[in-house]
Amino acid sequence: MKASELFYPTLREVPSEAEIISHQLLLRAGFIRRTTAGVYSYLPLGYRVIRKIMQIVREEMDRAGGQEVLMPIIQPKELWEKSGRWEVYGDEMFRLIDRHNRGFSLAPTHEELITTLVDADVHSYRDLPLLIYQMQNKYRDEVRPRFGLMRGREFIMKDLYSFDIDENGLDISYHKMYDAYKRIYERLNLKFRVVEADSGAIGGNESHEFMVLADNGESEIAYCENCNYAANVEKAETILLEQDKEDLLELTKIHTPGERTIQDIVDNFNIPAFKQIKTLMYMADEEVVAVILRGDRELNEIKLKNFLACQDLYMADENTVRANCGASFGSLGPVGLNLKVYADTEVTAMYNFACGANVDDYHYINVNVGRDFVPEKILDLRNVVKGDICPECGELLDIIRGIEVGHIFKLGTKYSESMEATFLDASGQAKPFVMGCYGIGISRTMAAAIEQNYDENGIIWPLPIAPYQVIIVPVNVKNAELLKAALSLYEELNQAGIEAIIDDRDERAGVKFKDADLIGIPIRITLGPKSWQEKQVEMKKRWEKDVEFINRDEVLAKVKAIIY
Ligand code: ATP
Ligand code: MG
Repeated sequence: MKASELFYPTLREVPSEAEIISHQLLLRAGFIRRTTAGVYSYLPLGYRVIRKIMQIVREEMDRAGGQEVLMPIIQPKELWEKSGRWEVYGDEMFRLIDRHNRGFSLAPTHEELITTLVDADVHSYRDLPLLIYQMQNKYRDEVRPRFGLMRGREFIMKDLYSFDIDENGLDISYHKMYDAYKRIYERLNLKFRVVEADSGAIGGNESHEFMVLADNGESEIAYCENCNYAANVEKAETILLEQDKEDLLELTKIHTPGERTIQDIVDNFNIPAFKQIKTLMYMADEEVVAVILRGDRELNEIKLKNFLACQDLYMADENTVRANCGASFGSLGPVGLNLKVYADTEVTAMYNFACGANVDDYHYINVNVGRDFVPEKILDLRNVVKGDICPECGELLDIIRGIEVGHIFKLGTKYSESMEATFLDASGQAKPFVMGCYGIGISRTMAAAIEQNYDENGIIWPLPIAPYQVIIVPVNVKNAELLKAALSLYEELNQAGIEAIIDDRDERAGVKFKDADLIGIPIRITLGPKSWQEKQVEMKKRWEKDVEFINRDEVLAKVKAIIY
């Protein structure tokens, strides 16, 4: 490709709307352009990267026995009503009305469609297992579309669905995908970790996420250096250490005017946060519930929501709090509270703690579980933190950040049952398909690759997904001999199947180097008038500082050695 003809509108300035590096660099390097919030065009360089990621994913899906299809994005409402998700999906689903006033969705995912498709034509256990996948746009009206390709409203996903006769079969399909995903991220040359995940709104039981490690990642991973336990913080568990027992002191109400937060009580009453409990009030669908945990801990709403099995969960407002406890947020507490109280496990190891007294400006001290109040249920409800105990081996957990690029789930019969999708087993009995679903964020993977591979000058593409492998820079195109030499090298690389750009623009060398660094081409070959007299060129790897002078005749062999 000649740079003079390539459509890659680079920008000098950092676009103000872009908060994270991958978003800034994708815009600056001319890989993407925004149309509206969370919706982007891929320009030529960007789309080349996308196609390379897709190709690696496709090869590994095919190798694992997957068959590629392409399903519709526009899907009738009835399909989603059958599974119950027309309601459940809520505002995240884009909805359309046609000229006959019929409802449709722009598909956020394809379980409903694939289940119907397979059910219509697969009747016997002999036709199973089946692994069907596609790569195409998905539509989700995210609450906060942001960070460019990280969280789009239109984004590219690979989704595969497995259909098996039983749990054993599902286990085999699941592990095929698990292994294929590992190969994919190894081939993409990205540092990643596989973590145990919450299976969330889609339901099901076993689930893993594939996380590309990056400081800017939205996800937190609890990780054990010792035994390799790794779980999304949404799901991660810890073990409660035995605490020394204390004598129970007398429950006492104290006057705490204007003291509203845990920190206020720390500052003014000298009671550390770990000797207080925090009481939160939530609306779980229609019901008001209370949750308590140690003062310095954070509630994990996903654990609570999973346990309550409710559809909506949100914090109660001031009026609801007052109506239920007679005081404001700052004085909430479990003693005498006429609500179901869900207590985090750790609270059972606390003695003589402080909490709100359900009267404005009053707290209790020396509160004890069992004696002063009885929780409806004691369960794991908090986020693990650095230094918690690893549930597998007892060593200490660390917290690292990552970007979720892939997610695999065992769905079981959730969709086949609700959608009445069955096959006949060996004894002629109708059985629901046992399913799994497996997603990869193709466009998010492109952004994640940058978050992990950049410097102050621009992107440093991992070789397997670089838009081009080599960029040839003649420093002065007005020098006819130099340009001719550069073009002949360009021809030679092309013929050998190397993907090369020649920067034939009439620009200063400095500008060309800046652009080459910005767009992140792994190998740069520079032809300057001086060294060319010796038939030498300069070779530089994007991820190294130093340049190397090599003979013109060695270029192809050297490039091949780096690429293959
Ligand atoms: P998240 O927790 O980030 O919202 P999710 O659990 O909703 O993700 P899945 O439904 O499992 O995601 O989708 C499969 C994959 O699609 C994810 O692992 C992620 O890589 C990608 N993905 C999901 N939502 C988006 C989005 N809004 N923009 C870009 N990629 C996305
Ligand atoms: Mg999501």
